[in-house]
Amino acid sequence: MEPFTYPDLPHVRRHRPLGYADADSYRPWLRDEFAFRCVFCLVREQWENPVGRFAVDHLQPQTRYPELAAVYHNLLYVCTSCNAVKGHQEVADPTQTLLSTTVVVQDDGTLVATTPAAAELLELLHLNYRTLCQRRQLLMAAVRVFREREPELYRRWMGFPDDLPDLSRLRPPGGNSRPEGVAQSCLARRERGELPATY
Ligand SMILES: [Zn+2]
Repeated sequence: MEPFTYPDLPHVRRHRPLGYADADSYRPWLRDEFAFRCVFCLVREQWENPVGRFAVDHLQPQTRYPELAAVYHNLLYVCTSCNAVKGHQEVADPTQTLLSTTVVVQDDGTLVATTPAAAELLELLHLNYRTLCQRRQLLMAAVRVFREREPELYRRWMGFPDDLPDLSRLRPPGGNSRPEGVAQSCLARRERGELPATY
């Protein structure tokens, strides 16, 4: 398991809660949907103090698309750094654009895009900013050492957080048009013993 390898396939949303008045109310759904990490840079809650370091981002900026301000399929789970860099820019959907087949992570922490769309997104989000690459390199090296010598530390760095949201208890005001997704949530999978120790 490598910490900065993007998903193999474009993301298909498993949840579709409806009707919350504000974007932040979708946060527990988005944390689960996007595996507790930033969809742009892959920084994980497990590596940060999650309080204040993660935000709900509008893929289509709400300044231009106010009708999408509180619509689930327009919302992403991101770190506050990527959220600030993205600002009001309209960018390609990272969950469809940044994939293991379109971005190669080098040992020095640099990301190399293999498609123009991925290259543009890396550029717009400053994902090859020097200090970010250095941090990525350091983290990859640490995770490798943990994997070989410190299995418990490896599990804590590369595993899911303890506070998995219980989506079965949530009642979105407009309902949930993909209720079957709740059974696929991380907490439900953990309770069935199906959630992997690391990801
Ligand atoms: Zn980020």
